[in-house]
Amino acid sequence: MIKQSNVMVKVRPANEAEAFQVILKPVGSACNMACSYCYYVKKNGVGSSCRNSMMSERLLELFIRQYFRLQQGNLISIAWHGGEPLLRGIEFYKKAVQLQSKYAEGRLVGNSLQTNGLLVDENWCRFFQENHFLIGLSLDGPEHIHDRYRRDRNGQGTFSRVIHAMRLFQKYNVEFNVLATINDYSARYPVEIYRFFKELDIRFIQFIPVVECLPQMPKKGTQAQTLPPAKRTDKLITPWSVKPDDYGRFLTAVYDEWVVRDVGRYFVPFFDAVLGNWCKENASLCVIAEECGKAPVLEHDGSFYFCDHYVFPEYRIGKIGKKNLSELMFSESQKRYGLQKSGLLTSDCCRCEYLFLCHGECQRNRFIVSSSGECGHNYLCEGLKLFFRHTESSMRFMRNELVHGRPAENVMWHRMGTLAKESL
Ligand code: SF4
Ligand code: SF4
Repeated sequence: MIKQSNVMVKVRPANEAEAFQVILKPVGSACNMACSYCYYVKKNGVGSSCRNSMMSERLLELFIRQYFRLQQGNLISIAWHGGEPLLRGIEFYKKAVQLQSKYAEGRLVGNSLQTNGLLVDENWCRFFQENHFLIGLSLDGPEHIHDRYRRDRNGQGTFSRVIHAMRLFQKYNVEFNVLATINDYSARYPVEIYRFFKELDIRFIQFIPVVECLPQMPKKGTQAQTLPPAKRTDKLITPWSVKPDDYGRFLTAVYDEWVVRDVGRYFVPFFDAVLGNWCKENASLCVIAEECGKAPVLEHDGSFYFCDHYVFPEYRIGKIGKKNLSELMFSESQKRYGLQKSGLLTSDCCRCEYLFLCHGECQRNRFIVSSSGECGHNYLCEGLKLFFRHTESSMRFMRNELVHGRPAENVMWHRMGTLAKESL
């Protein structure tokens, strides 16, 4: 299960089209919740939570026809995101599955969908199970952590409703994983959060740092406008954003527990992606890939954007219906956005011993001044370095095991041995 930022596919010219994944926003940013830290719902000019931000079936068919024609592999992936994508209603997704069969020509289709869980009921679960949807459930951890920011429009916590959705997924054998944010509050409880997920038998746990800037704090009952990446500065960072060193400490605390007990049993995509970079494989998360990936966004009205975090009018690449999908996907703008990730590194990044693991991290987080006084350095740098340094020896060990055809899980014995020696 992925969020936009989890797919890395290298940008290539149109005539070398290869597998890529588009994130569909069938209701734009419309949502039935009002999380304080949401980066999507408050965007100016795009996907306001108005009722008419609904993707039409006509646009859906146009997209599926062109998208399936462009795909060259045997597996075609589609990711559904919001806002809250279930607001589009189950009939829309039934239609989508019909259209997918119509245009698949025998190829497999994988649907993933990110939901806050509030609308999930037995009908949805039957549909997801029958059609093999992979669901990402947004759950930040135990109740005091989840309800800190994930509240509904009446200000009520949503924890018990999300847990109810999760129980329904388990009852109906719907495949799911969780996406948990690391914010200023949850960053204090890494081990509590990780153990909480394990106790729920959740095997795939994706952690996403909250890094948000606002020009001014919203008044009660209102929502401020999220700033486009180019206008972000560290002076505008919101109080709910995670601090860089807290981010690093959170990841290392979870890693320390994972690496002695859970390798091969529980999966934290960021750890796998860092190990992938140690092994010189394509990073499985775009945030630490060399280039930004082919995981563009198609908004409810057909507008096409380079990335989920760049859905602002100034970054719009074009509109399906006016241009066809291959023109948009392999346009010069799309290529430029993809390549500028490695082209716009600060000199601190270029000299950094961890550049091969980090690649300057996500472009949208590059808004602080580096130690040598350059603008455009990554806000999370300090935490990332802390994590890379802390995990270096065990990552090297896992890489060595994999290179010699042995399982990475052997690191658990190695780590336990090291810890035992250290305690003598
Ligand atoms: S750790 Fe910091 S300096 Fe190194 S590549 Fe990442 S962002 Fe750049
Ligand atoms: S800007 Fe690049 S690295 Fe960041 S989320 Fe988008 S595609 Fe991923």
